[in-house]
Amino acid sequence: MEVHIITIFPDFFRGPLDYGIVRRAREAGLVKIEIRDLRAFTRDRHRTVDDRPFGGGEGMVLKPEPIFESVEALNLAPREERANAKQSVVLLSAQGKRFDQKLASEIAGLERLVLICGRYEGVDERVGTSLADREISIGDYVLSGGELGAAVIVDTITRLIPGAVGNEASTRQESFFAGPELGGNELSDKSVRSTRADSTCGSGGLLDYPHYTRQAEFRGMKVPEVLVNGNHEEIRRWRRRSALEKTLRNRPDLFDEARLTESDREWRSEIEGG
Ligand code: SAM
Repeated sequence: MEVHIITIFPDFFRGPLDYGIVRRAREAGLVKIEIRDLRAFTRDRHRTVDDRPFGGGEGMVLKPEPIFESVEALNLAPREERANAKQSVVLLSAQGKRFDQKLASEIAGLERLVLICGRYEGVDERVGTSLADREISIGDYVLSGGELGAAVIVDTITRLIPGAVGNEASTRQESFFAGPELGGNELSDKSVRSTRADSTCGSGGLLDYPHYTRQAEFRGMKVPEVLVNGNHEEIRRWRRRSALEKTLRNRPDLFDEARLTESDREWRSEIEGG
């Protein structure tokens, strides 16, 4: 996968993309990340990338011309053919579609991705309507620039690229993952049991279960007994029930699209019944 990040602050990315999984994936050639300095696509002496907004108002707006030229220099497929060519040009924007694990999985399947980072009051609207094929927001808050958003997207999608994470199965067992691996829209208890005993068997779109490591007792706080008794079926049931509890507590909205088994539903009623 090839990722191009267009920014007025290229040095911003020293750091976020140089550690851990992203760094290893880059070194292994699984993902190639190129940082493009928007100012390199300006034509005036002052390398101007912004201007005052038409109609008046606060702040400055990133001009369309250098952004269009920096993307065009990449020779991507035309906008309407990009999806088929496994390419996408994304404008980072607070007004975009909210980034989530499902969108991350879709983007991780692309071959070429361009991330345009806005700044100031934002980007000339024509970039969103005629150059980018989608606008993405990383959450319902306003950042000073798209760079943090671009780093979040690159980190999230890189760990979904086959080979990037040492134990590939682990990315399918994490929070929010609702992939089709376990068959059908509804998880069956049988498909859950047939997966490895040390897994949550896929979160089915819920939050991950709680994790513990040594010491078994730390400052008087004990690891749940069930995790040290070696009974894999009990461990699996405890983990699944704990994932349900945590999701009900912190993110009940995830149940709207979660894939639940029969026992999930029973446990949920039990938990809600107190
Ligand atoms: N005036 C804009 C608004 O109210 O929607 C906010 C502009 S913001 C200060 C500058 C840039 O930060 C945006 O052009 C965008 O690239 C980036 N940005 C801000 N919030 C974001 C978010 N939640 N997700 C992704 N990018 C964001």
